[in-house]
Amino acid sequence: MASITLDNVVKTYPDGFTAVKGVSIDIADGEFIILVGPSGCGKSTVLRMIVGLEDISDGELRIGGEVVNDKAPRDRNLAMVFQNYALYPHLTVYENIAFPLRLQKGQFSETEIDEKVRRASALLELDEHLDRKPANLSGGQRQRVAMGRAIVRDAEAFLFDEPLSNLDAKLRGQMRTEIARLQRRLATTTVYVTHDQTEAMTLGDRVAVLRRGELQQLASPRGLYEQPVNLFVAGFIGSPPMNFIPGVVEGDHLRTPIVDVPIDDRLRRAIGDRQLVIVGIRPDTFQEAGSLVARAAQGRGVTLEVDVDQTEWLGEVLYAYVPFDTDERVAAKLEELDRDLDGEGMRTQVVVALDSMSTVREGDRAELWFDPDQMHVFDPETNENLT
Ligand code: ATP
Repeated sequence: MASITLDNVVKTYPDGFTAVKGVSIDIADGEFIILVGPSGCGKSTVLRMIVGLEDISDGELRIGGEVVNDKAPRDRNLAMVFQNYALYPHLTVYENIAFPLRLQKGQFSETEIDEKVRRASALLELDEHLDRKPANLSGGQRQRVAMGRAIVRDAEAFLFDEPLSNLDAKLRGQMRTEIARLQRRLATTTVYVTHDQTEAMTLGDRVAVLRRGELQQLASPRGLYEQPVNLFVAGFIGSPPMNFIPGVVEGDHLRTPIVDVPIDDRLRRAIGDRQLVIVGIRPDTFQEAGSLVARAAQGRGVTLEVDVDQTEWLGEVLYAYVPFDTDERVAAKLEELDRDLDGEGMRTQVVVALDSMSTVREGDRAELWFDPDQMHVFDPETNENLT
C-alpha cells in the first residue's frame, strides 16, 4: 500500500483543452479519498492520470514517494475498478478473479492462485458463486467480482470511477456500505470518483471538490458541510442545497428579504466594508420558534415571520417553501452558480426543513428561529466564504 501525491498536476488534452489546472492533493497511505464535482469538472481525468491511462502535462505524481509520471500503468501496481465492471463474460467468477494473476505468467503457482481467489471471494461473500458466469450475477455481485480482481493483485491502491452509477438506488445503497466496510477492513489507499454527494459524504475520509479543473476544497465530509470555503462548495454539498439570499449592510444589521440579523463583532469583521453580501443558511438550521431547540436557546438566536407558499411532507421531514425578492446582482451570481451545479433551478425561495410533526401548512404565516452563528456570509465578487 502507498501514499499518492498529486503536486500541481495539469492535464491539457491534444485539442488544447486544459481539463485539470494545477491540482495538488496528498493522499495518505490507507486513506479513502473521494473526488467529486459536477459533470466535466475533471475528476475522471485526475483518476486516469493517477492510473496512467492519461499522460500528465505538467506537475508531478508520486506513489509511495516515487515520481511515476513516466511509469507505464502496469508498473504502478494500482487496481482500477471500472464503471462497467469490465468482466469477461465467457469466464466464471473464479476465472475472472484469477485473471490478473494468470496475466503475470508463471509468477503464481496454481495453489497460490487458488488461495488468493478463495481469500478474496470469502471476503466479498462470493464463495457460492465461483462457478457462475457474469451474466448470471446481480449488478452488486458483478461489482464485487470486479473488486475481487483488484484485491487478489495486492495492489498499492484501489481506484474507482463511478462504480455504482449503473445500479438501482437500493443496490447502490447496499454496495456503498459494503465498499466502505471492505475498505476499512483492507485499509488500502482508495481514490473514488463520483458525482453523487451521498457517496462523497458517507464513504470518504476526505473529499476533494473539483470545479472546472480546479480543486475548490479538500476536507472531511463534515468540514465541507460546516465550513464550505466558497459559494460553489456550499451549494454543491447538502440536500436540499443551502439557501442563498442577498444581505445588505444597514448600520448594525444585515438586512435580508426574510430577516434582519444583528451584526456582532465576528460578523462585522467578516463583512468588512462590503455593502452587499450573499447570506447562506442551510434548510435544517431553521426551527419553528416554539420548538425545543429554539426554546433551549433561551433568547439567543433570531426569530422571523415568514409566509409559507408551499409545503412537502416526506415522512421524516417537512419542507416549507418561502418565496422572497432577490437582488439583481445576487440573482446574476446565483444563475451563474446554478449553471455550474448542473441547474438546480433559480433560487427565489427559501427552503426550510422542519420536524415532520410540524403543523405548518401552505398559506400559513409561520414563526421561525435560527442561530446566526450557523449562517454563512459570502463575498458576491470572489464567492469566498467570509465567516
Ligand atoms: P463526468 O462526471 O461527466 O464523467 P468528469 O468530471 O469525470 O465528468 P472528465 O471526464 O475528467 O470529467 O473531463 C473533464 C473535461 O475534459 C470535460 O470538459 C471533457 O469534455 C474534457 N475531455 C475529456 N477527455 C477529453 C479528450 N480526450 N480530449 C479533449 N477533452 C477531453
